[in-house]
Amino acid sequence: MADQYDVVIIGGGPGGYNCAIRAGQLGLKTACIESRKTLGGTCLNVGCIPSKAMLHASELYEEANKNFADMGIEIGKLSLNLKKMMGQKDDAVDGLTKGVEFLFKKNKVDHVRGKGRIAGKGKVIVTGEDGKETELSAKNIVIATGSEVTPLPGVEIDEERIVSSTGALELKEVPKKLIVIGAGVIGLELGSVWRRLGADVTVVEFLDRALPGMDGEVSKQAKRLFEKQGMSFKLSRKVTGIEKLKTKLKVTTEAAKGGSEEVLDADVVLVCIGRRPYTEGLGLETVGIEVDKRGMIANDHFKTAAEGVWVVGDVTSGPMLAHKAEDEGTAVAELIAGKAGHVNYDAIPNVVYTYPEIASVGQTEEQLKESGRKYKSGAFPFMANSRGRTNHTTDGFVKILADAETDEILGAHIVGPNAGELIAELTVAMEFRAASEDIARTCHAHPTLSEAVRQAAMGVEGWTMQM
Ligand SMILES: Cc1cc2nc3c(=O)[nH]c(=O)nc-3n(C[C@H](O)[C@H](O)[C@H](O)COP(=O)(O)OP(=O)(O)OC[C@H]3O[C@@H](n4cnc5c(N)ncnc54)[C@H](O)[C@@H]3O)c2cc1C
Repeated sequence: MADQYDVVIIGGGPGGYNCAIRAGQLGLKTACIESRKTLGGTCLNVGCIPSKAMLHASELYEEANKNFADMGIEIGKLSLNLKKMMGQKDDAVDGLTKGVEFLFKKNKVDHVRGKGRIAGKGKVIVTGEDGKETELSAKNIVIATGSEVTPLPGVEIDEERIVSSTGALELKEVPKKLIVIGAGVIGLELGSVWRRLGADVTVVEFLDRALPGMDGEVSKQAKRLFEKQGMSFKLSRKVTGIEKLKTKLKVTTEAAKGGSEEVLDADVVLVCIGRRPYTEGLGLETVGIEVDKRGMIANDHFKTAAEGVWVVGDVTSGPMLAHKAEDEGTAVAELIAGKAGHVNYDAIPNVVYTYPEIASVGQTEEQLKESGRKYKSGAFPFMANSRGRTNHTTDGFVKILADAETDEILGAHIVGPNAGELIAELTVAMEFRAASEDIARTCHAHPTLSEAVRQAAMGVEGWTMQM
């Protein structure tokens, strides 16, 4: 007799585990199937968390190396203990994955270990590590199987010399020369980690700009700042092959449009050209669900084409972000419990955790221009912000875009210290459909970086004061 559940979730990442916890809180009998040894998905195990632990530690290392002496802090010769730095990263991952396990127990969610597959309406079969199969019966099935690294045709990832983001978080030593393929968020974050620790980093990007998809002014300034820090860029170029020699890698690149070949040497190559939805062996055909040509499962308010089967996170449409997956998971649990579940896709922040951080929410100037929407903008540089000056963190700016008539905030873009935290104020404002004047007239503590946000908002109406 199969175990009976209200909800069976396949995948224990941010989409799946938040759905499971919320379903448990709402009194639904819930199971979450995860094929990894630990819960937390890509995010906690090989994504957001380990990368941020390495970004934080390497930022401190660079700060101590380059800037402490100027502030009167003399520490003598600095040395890197990479094994220990990796250890503190592993501790962060371990603590957080165990935290999810604890929350499952607290909310009476069954953690089922193994690979799940749908086997018809309301039926899920789990194959455990030992090959044993268990059948679960569910009124609702939630697909939260996430994504995997997109491979580069002709390039085999060995996770030692040619690595994906997963291997780049486990390198045993600092490479002398690191080539990053792809100037997106993950490439720039992990490229920054290894540059700070001593690698010579070159980023090869097919498109003609770094951080494609972000506001044009932001990606231009960000690239300039990364170059100032010592990162090199080869834009509008593609990697056509990698030859593995005994001691090094020969990376062949050519112009994106074809022709003009250039061969680059590297010790390690990081392939970071994106991620793709993961649905392998999921049994979608048994309930009539199809994937599109990118491998994605379509949804209508989280519902798939099959009755009683929902989908959340990276495996479906929208930005591949942990907090987007989390919000979708929560919304689905609430909908299943008969409550209102909703995600506002217009107010999902996006953060690049480099130094300086880069954060955005809402529309870019390019998108507004393309849609023909009339807008006003205000901007403020951290160079003129008092806290930026006291902390010697003056790179970057805040830009706010608001509707030309109603003044409603349509987008906000920040390059600067703590941008990832500062964007929260603007995200809340957008959720409340606030006007830029609402921010401009709100008292902000002095001296804080958040005053730059206020000054940018004042700039929308042309009354910036601190310049
Ligand atoms: C290096 C890196 C850094 C990142 N940094 C950030 C960041 O800073 N901020 C951010 O918002 N996002 C970040 N992301 C993206 C983020 O990790 C994902 O958007 C997020 O994890 C998606 O959550 P999910 O639940 O949809 O899928 P996942 O986290 O991928 O979880 C899916 C889980 O399902 C399991 N699974 C799959 N199929 C089955 C099956 N058949 N049976 C059982 N289990 C199955 C998988 O093992 C996996 O654990 C980063 C990603 C990477 C790779």
